[in-house]
Amino acid sequence: MSEKNLKKSIYLDHHATTPVEPRVLEKMLPYFCEIFGNPMSAQHSFGWQAKEAVEKARAQVAKLIGAQAREITFTSGATESIHLAILGAFRNAENETQKKYHLITSLVEHKCSLEVAHQLENLGHQVTYLGVNEFGQISIDDLKNAIQENTLMVSFIHANNEIGSINPVKEISEVCQSHKILFHLDSAQICGKHAIDVVQEHIDLLSLSAHKLYGPKGIGAIYMRQTQPRVRVSPYIFGGGQERGLRSGTQNVPGIVGLGEACEMSMKDLATENPRQRNLRDHMMTRISKEIEGAIFNGHPTERVCNNVSLSLESVLPDQMLMAMSEVAFSSGSACASGEDSHVLAQIRKQQLLRMPEMKDKDYFTLRFGIGRSTTLAEIDYVCDLLKAAVAKVRPISQFNL
Ligand SMILES: *Cc1c(COP(=O)(O)O)cnc(C)c1O
Repeated sequence: MSEKNLKKSIYLDHHATTPVEPRVLEKMLPYFCEIFGNPMSAQHSFGWQAKEAVEKARAQVAKLIGAQAREITFTSGATESIHLAILGAFRNAENETQKKYHLITSLVEHKCSLEVAHQLENLGHQVTYLGVNEFGQISIDDLKNAIQENTLMVSFIHANNEIGSINPVKEISEVCQSHKILFHLDSAQICGKHAIDVVQEHIDLLSLSAHKLYGPKGIGAIYMRQTQPRVRVSPYIFGGGQERGLRSGTQNVPGIVGLGEACEMSMKDLATENPRQRNLRDHMMTRISKEIEGAIFNGHPTERVCNNVSLSLESVLPDQMLMAMSEVAFSSGSACASGEDSHVLAQIRKQQLLRMPEMKDKDYFTLRFGIGRSTTLAEIDYVCDLLKAAVAKVRPISQFNL
């Protein structure tokens, strides 16, 4: 591999994952070799200290979203949390009544939610997949129309991991409350970046992941409301009864400490980091729209997570663009007239076509940039320059080859 290919020096893929913050790592380190006890060991101080650390982290996670500590269960990440939320609630309800139930979700969920929904269907439950507007958001009227007598849960992505749009949480929760339906949010992309209050917004279940908010990989949490209503789920990992029987297996103490610290840190920095990242994002979008012809931005113009820029460019060969942009780590996808490799882009493209019929039969290359805590204005300007030069170079070649 040439040196150039190895030189991915600017990281703008913070939706995929984030680095562990040094402050977070520092808090984790003692829990590997020194305070290594099992939190379930109730007979000695090694166990007590580990348990104390786990309970401190539980409170830190709870605080970030306005929950109570006892409403937080640790898991291996958002994928597992979403399994426990959806499959767990349906298993519990079916066990109690021997009936099948109905889930309402959307077509632009993270892959893990979509796969869980498919599993529910395999188990004989019903699922409605709502379409979205051109920004990738669900409509409240569609939601109301989809409700059935046996609807148990509504589950949506909070901020979309590809295009950044935020779903109308308050309106969704009002509908759910009035129909006594459980409301689960996949908040992996928004936790730590925007303020969340599960009490004010009346959220019943919420999934999050440490590695999306500057904590370690392989650890996450699920919030489940304990009063009005008390959310009940059936576990599917059995054993020593850890996490109040909801998720057996010795707790990942260093990971849990890291998640807790990451939550506390992002809460402390939210008031400065959110506007800082938003300004970088707005600067990037302004420069791109002024300097690159025919750039189409995906996602909602204002109801969007602070760190996401998703843009689609026509008449550029993807491979050529990737080569010209090889110094930047970002994520790409295509939404071509011939077929899309992203289910999210495919859904919004249908709606974009209604407003912009000139998009028809054209191939688009989509770039997703995810700004992070370490991103600087100089980096953003550099990436804008690079992008502009790449498009200028690639477009003339592409015209003959697309
Ligand atoms: C990353 C992500 C997940 C999966 O989280 P893991 O902790 O990696 O399992 C789920 N949903 C969204 C929106 C995500 O961004």
